[in-house]
Amino acid sequence: MSQPVDLSPLQRELDNLRLQLCHCNNAGTCLGCQGVDMLRQQAAMVVSAATQPVLLQVAQESQAKELVKQVQEMQERLLRDPEAAKALEELLKYFQGPTEETNH
Ligand SMILES: [Zn+2]
Repeated sequence: MSQPVDLSPLQRELDNLRLQLCHCNNAGTCLGCQGVDMLRQQAAMVVSAATQPVLLQVAQESQAKELVKQVQEMQERLLRDPEAAKALEELLKYFQGPTEETNH
């Protein structure tokens, strides 16, 4: 991969998602805003980890583990709050999209 990764479509989707989930008037304090910001950071981390040279593979692996840990922590935090759990469910649904499983 030699071309820079274009994250702008994803950023637009995340902005759109944030508008739908936000209930703090875009102040950045609600779980919708915080969750979307976290996803944004994680997307950037994934891209930077995945586009690094092979020499840095060990660092990539620990970054990947850190990423998984962060996602788990976020989920645990959100799941303690029923409303936030619902928001997270919506988030995940959004990213999974309509079921695309093949029938064979
Ligand atoms: Zn908000």
